[in-house]
Amino acid sequence: GTSIIYKRTNMQKSSELFESAKNIIPGGVNSPVRAFNGVGGEPCFIEKADGAYIFDADGNKYIDYVGSWGPMILGHNHPVIKKAVIETAENGLSFGAPTALEITMAEKVRELVPSMEKLRMVSSGTEATMSAIRLARGYTGRDKILKFEGCYHGHADSLLVKAGSGALTLGVPSSPGIPESFAEHTLTVSFNKLDEVKAIFEKLGDQIACIIVEPVAGNMNCIPPVEGFLEGLRDICDQYKSVLIFDEVMTGFRVALGGAQAFYNIKPDLTTLGKVIGGGMPVGAFGGKAEIMDFIAPVGPVYQAGTLSGNPIAMAAGLASLNELSTGDKHTQLAKATEKLAMGFKAAAERNGVSLSINYAGAMFGFFFTDEKTVTTYQQATECDADKFKRFFHFMLDEGVYLAPSAFEASFLSTAHTDDKIEATLAAADRCFAKL
Ligand code: PLP
Repeated sequence: GTSIIYKRTNMQKSSELFESAKNIIPGGVNSPVRAFNGVGGEPCFIEKADGAYIFDADGNKYIDYVGSWGPMILGHNHPVIKKAVIETAENGLSFGAPTALEITMAEKVRELVPSMEKLRMVSSGTEATMSAIRLARGYTGRDKILKFEGCYHGHADSLLVKAGSGALTLGVPSSPGIPESFAEHTLTVSFNKLDEVKAIFEKLGDQIACIIVEPVAGNMNCIPPVEGFLEGLRDICDQYKSVLIFDEVMTGFRVALGGAQAFYNIKPDLTTLGKVIGGGMPVGAFGGKAEIMDFIAPVGPVYQAGTLSGNPIAMAAGLASLNELSTGDKHTQLAKATEKLAMGFKAAAERNGVSLSINYAGAMFGFFFTDEKTVTTYQQATECDADKFKRFFHFMLDEGVYLAPSAFEASFLSTAHTDDKIEATLAAADRCFAKL
């Protein structure tokens, strides 16, 4: 019969592939976190995936909690999505002209996220946030933007900025290649610290085009908003006539069917989407108040475009994914499974005398090796025991469980993560905590 979980046997082929890849692709990967720098060791090269599992080049099979970093909320290789992609591909791959499918897709997104009165499709989360920022600046006529330390919004120049350790710091670039003169327009304060937001708005409020925030932070592990934080951002934006942007690239259709804005009942002015919206194809979207969206070309003056935007295959995959996800109250089931896994991790850690703090929201979660009871800030997240995380990650990988290869990434569940898989994961976690 088939077993739920397999111990890893070897990684000879992955290792050889990594050597070849490094000769031609910088670091051997097309996106940095895949290189396992955050945990050490070498990445698994993946051959295929199905349901809750991914399979590597050496034939190892893992229960996957990365889900392609978020998109695969229905599990890998879902038959409905696969069928939609194959059937649509029969008619050609791209036209660079409008299609009826784009209307159906936009209407589906608006049905699920009603604050997006109008929206536009793009091909990645980065494009969505970059375009939303340009739009907010064009709409308000202001240059400065406010983001939060530890929040990631893709790699557009103005967003690849973090603060120094002090609060209320003017922007310094996080990467060479970003002129300081760009970065100085990006203000950065601490996530979940409303007083810092208030203070900076008191000083510079009339110059700030927008606040962009991950409503549940998922790029510094998993940090939900504290009570009153998102409401406070909404009030400040209303007071200063700044645009409130929820970056729901990760949380959209995941924290709840209507995203974090439905879960916490806060209405942003603009929303950015990615990941789940494409069902595994490259799709992003940005949208919001019609009055703001009508500033976008060709109706308005703010330029934004894309050769492959609204690509039919991508739209077909996304639409099939959203339609399937909307049936049968899947998010109640996802939330239950996530809670079971989170509570199980906590209990297993306690049994083995390991200090662990767990956060979760909808179908995303994160765990911290720390003595702190709750983790609500970037600073707390960065002070956790990174070495323990690395060892735990590799113990779990050997047990056949694929967690995010970084202590600063959230983990994801899918509808394919059924009880038996969660129980097998928890049994493995128990053995791994014991070895720490
Ligand atoms: N915004 C958030 C919250 C994300 O998590 C990510 C990617 O992880 C992005 C934006 C960028 O999306 P993409 O990698 O599709 O460009």
